[in-house]
Amino acid sequence: MIDAFTYSLPTEIIFGFGKLAELPALLESHGVQKCVLVCDRFFAKKGAELLKTTAQICAVFDDVEPNPQLSGVEATVRLLKEHGADAVLALGGGSAMDTAKYAAACAKSEHSPAAHFEGAPFSGKGAKIFAVPTTAGTGAEVTGVSVISRGDEKKTTHHPSFYPDVCIVDPELTMTVPPFTTMITGLDAFTHAIEAFWSVRHGAVSDLFAKEALRVILTHLENAYRTGDRDARTGMAYGSLLAGLAFSVAKTAGCHACSYPLSMYHHLPHGEACAFTLDSFIRMNADSRLQSLAQSLGFASCDALADEIARLKTVGGLRMRFSQCEGELDLDRLASESEAHMLMRNNPKQFSVQELKAMFEALQ
Ligand code: NAD
Repeated sequence: MIDAFTYSLPTEIIFGFGKLAELPALLESHGVQKCVLVCDRFFAKKGAELLKTTAQICAVFDDVEPNPQLSGVEATVRLLKEHGADAVLALGGGSAMDTAKYAAACAKSEHSPAAHFEGAPFSGKGAKIFAVPTTAGTGAEVTGVSVISRGDEKKTTHHPSFYPDVCIVDPELTMTVPPFTTMITGLDAFTHAIEAFWSVRHGAVSDLFAKEALRVILTHLENAYRTGDRDARTGMAYGSLLAGLAFSVAKTAGCHACSYPLSMYHHLPHGEACAFTLDSFIRMNADSRLQSLAQSLGFASCDALADEIARLKTVGGLRMRFSQCEGELDLDRLASESEAHMLMRNNPKQFSVQELKAMFEALQ
């Protein structure tokens, strides 16, 4: 029986190797007059090229940092206002996309970005959003979510105005991602898919995206890491997009709830922080539904699937124990902040602070 569900997506998706070439025509067909490009330093040269070759691009903000800061949003909003721009284009990983999404929502707001960060509600979009992911991981090109930090304070905001109007998923742009980043962003995408599948908010359509995302990611991740070839990169870009389509509605759960204190206190990048507890949650969330999923993916059990994740983490050189991490270990704080995070409510099983502490203790 199919339970009732809701699924909606306001984003036009253009997928294909080399599709970035269609950007000028796309901006034109969407009536864009002036567009601010947002990227990180790795894409500063590409950004400068696009400024020269794409008539609609009027300015570039190329200083997005990983765990993007509110100051980057403020700089982008200043450029949007200064140029009277009607669109923002993000070229980069989740950090560039989240900066652009937040800035677009602030562009015509009566409130400053800082006031929004402190809780002023968003009312609508002040600029169209074009998102071009360059990592295969976050799925931020199809979500109504933006994750912005002020100092160490990292906040996730959900708002319909954060959905990009258009995304171009061009796997060619991911060919330069270094192996370690390929593995952590790929495991981020895997976590989106499996958490969307086991989220209490899952539905028939998000399940469909989640299951296919898991299959595609398991097929291509190791190759993308080891060889970085075109086929594997294309597979990962597709898998990450599908995972985004799954969690954009179903949301994420326990691993993501734990990732926030892990990033804050132990300075793990987002994908590595999600992967840190991924195999633990697969074992702890195991039930008959997850068992069938593991079997449909070719594993004898949830434990075998969790073992495969642990193996991929080892292959990729990810930190798997607190003894390998920076920062002072405070298991009580980690467990209580993870338990209190709103995403933990989406987890299929509710774990007490004591149970989460035991999970972290086993990872010392
Ligand atoms: P990122 O955007 O922070 O980039 C990581 C590093 O990879 C950077 O140094 C960047 O310069 C480099 N990089 C990016 N593309 C490259 C390429 N093609 N070649 C070489 N280097 C490249 O990493 P990310 O994992 O894509 O994004 C993480 C951020 O996204 C976190 O802040 C996380 O919280 C957020 N996030 C957002 C959503 C959402 O729905 N909005 C979902 C998941 C994660």
